[in-house]
Amino acid sequence: MGPRCFTFLRHYEIKVKIMKYEETVIETPRFTQKYKEAINEDYLVGTQCQDCGSTFLPPRSICKDCKSPRTKFIEITAEKGTLLTYTIIHVAPPSLQHMAPYVVGIVELETGQRLTAIILGDPAELKIGKKVLLSFDSETKGPGRLRFRLLPDDHSD
Ligand SMILES: [Zn+2]
Repeated sequence: MGPRCFTFLRHYEIKVKIMKYEETVIETPRFTQKYKEAINEDYLVGTQCQDCGSTFLPPRSICKDCKSPRTKFIEITAEKGTLLTYTIIHVAPPSLQHMAPYVVGIVELETGQRLTAIILGDPAELKIGKKVLLSFDSETKGPGRLRFRLLPDDHSD
């Protein structure tokens, strides 16, 4: 076998991996649905990989770290998190125009996962590293319900 043959085999192997991945991704609506349903009932559902233990939020049908399809749903019990970054939205989509300008941030939950959501509170208090409290907007359905409220600086965990 020459080098050409080796290249062919590698390509073949990669193609098989991609096909396997696509096959499993077809299941994803089930994972998305479970996530939405949980949020509508004021809690968070993610997945945990049964092979390496990594957790994901929103849920994933395939582990991002080890590519294992053996995942199970778990409740993410975090109530607080830390603001990693944020941006102020001035031009909002139609459903959120009544809130503009508003703040969207990425929060690292105390359980380690990250979520993007609207940040509520005094804009003068906005600062990377601020502690935030998870809450759910009663007027909205689905992942748009997620909110984080800025906590005072003297707040201790
Ligand atoms: Zn894994």
